[in-house]
Amino acid sequence: MKGDHKIWDVAVIGGGPSGMMAAGRAAELGARVILIEKNETLGKKLLLTGGGRCNLTNAEPSTRAFLSKLKENEKFLFSTFSQMNIEDTISFFNKHGLDTKMEAGGRVFPISDKAKSVLDALIKYINKGDVTIKTKKIVSNITINKDNTFSIQTKEDEIIKAKKIIIATGGTSRPETGSTGDGFKWLASLGHTIEESDASLVPIAISDEWVKTLQGVTLSNIKINVFQNNKKQFSKKGNVLFTHFGISGPTIINMSKDVRDLLHYGPVVIKLDILPHLGDGETNKMLQALFIKEQNKKFKNIVNTIAPVSTFQKIIMDFSNIEPETFCHSITREKRLFLAKILKGIPMNVEGILGKEKAIVTSGGVPLTEVDTKTMESKLCKKLFLTGDILDIDRPSGGYSLQICWTTGYVAGTAAAK
Ligand SMILES: Cc1cc2nc3c(=O)[nH]c(=O)nc-3n(C[C@H](O)[C@H](O)[C@H](O)COP(=O)(O)OP(=O)(O)OC[C@H]3O[C@@H](n4cnc5c(N)ncnc54)[C@H](O)[C@@H]3O)c2cc1C
Repeated sequence: MKGDHKIWDVAVIGGGPSGMMAAGRAAELGARVILIEKNETLGKKLLLTGGGRCNLTNAEPSTRAFLSKLKENEKFLFSTFSQMNIEDTISFFNKHGLDTKMEAGGRVFPISDKAKSVLDALIKYINKGDVTIKTKKIVSNITINKDNTFSIQTKEDEIIKAKKIIIATGGTSRPETGSTGDGFKWLASLGHTIEESDASLVPIAISDEWVKTLQGVTLSNIKINVFQNNKKQFSKKGNVLFTHFGISGPTIINMSKDVRDLLHYGPVVIKLDILPHLGDGETNKMLQALFIKEQNKKFKNIVNTIAPVSTFQKIIMDFSNIEPETFCHSITREKRLFLAKILKGIPMNVEGILGKEKAIVTSGGVPLTEVDTKTMESKLCKKLFLTGDILDIDRPSGGYSLQICWTTGYVAGTAAAK
């Protein structure tokens, strides 16, 4: 076995966003840093983010507003974010040559619309600090030596020694990018709890065939009502993107975890309310007025006033049971009431939520109760720090995940360099 005689101040395992930030920061403060990555290149998953555009943070108006989206983890992260908040992140990237822009929902992207620009800025940062980068090295084990240093063993039969280590190996979503949950095994052997990893932000599969015929269609500003046992469980307003397997888009993936939880108790039906600005009675009145105004027109020729997307008009006609050739004056009250009901709740049967291979992040990982969040040091193993997706932090999509990576990476890098 080849031993590197050098003892590094800091070894970072995992060259994703949080590992690169941690390595760059520790080096900036003067530590001798080695960054170990199993892939040939750094940041493979980062390049996939935001559809290749990288939604690098969310410009929430305050840290409090940002953290409130992280559910029960909010309370642990105030001191972490006091060291690097959203504004600091944007200034960091601007300082390292990356101009940013803000889009709907506070989502921040590079002006270039390329995730590669974000990766380039990070690589520039770590190179500036003279970080030694070792790619194509798969860490297989970590041991603590008698002199309180760490030995990092690689599958390539190498031992790398370091005084402090930062584990940034990510979660288990999109394993083809290198995130295969290796860090969880080592941390479990050191006594850490690993909350079960489960797909958290994923699209939803629908069993109804008609949904698949709408592939590529987006319905905007509608209300999505989720039912179980005929009882409404929760609702969200937003957009729905139809795909070949079901439905997707930010609103859908943000509700996927709650849908998954409901599926443990039985079948789930999602109903789309395409007229959320009208109540049930108002919808009926609107149709009544429309059918009087257009009484001499056929149903098929006025359905576009109800459903703007043409492929969706066919679905409305199929569901309503009104013959397309029927003149509006001949549509019965019963049929009109049924149409109103459909417009307020087109039902779709949930088949399941997609698995880890389609997940944006996975929930699960090391609970923050086992980490000193002022430094990101493990409470169970001194001089070992944890960053990014390896931590069990529930978060919505929209730049929150990467912001957590930047902040935890920066804080761990700062503390490890001391
Ligand atoms: C398709 C997709 C789109 C996304 N879009 C966004 C977005 O727009 N905005 C956002 O905020 N978040 C987004 N995310 C989430 C975001 O990508 C993650 O939160 C982030 O990449 C986590 O960073 P990380 O550094 O913790 O881990 P990772 O990015 O998972 O990196 C971990 C690294 O560790 C390496 N590694 C693992 N095991 C070993 C080992 N044994 N030895 C050596 N190296 C190892 C891996 O190869 C990998 O490079 C997206 C995720 C996906 C999958």
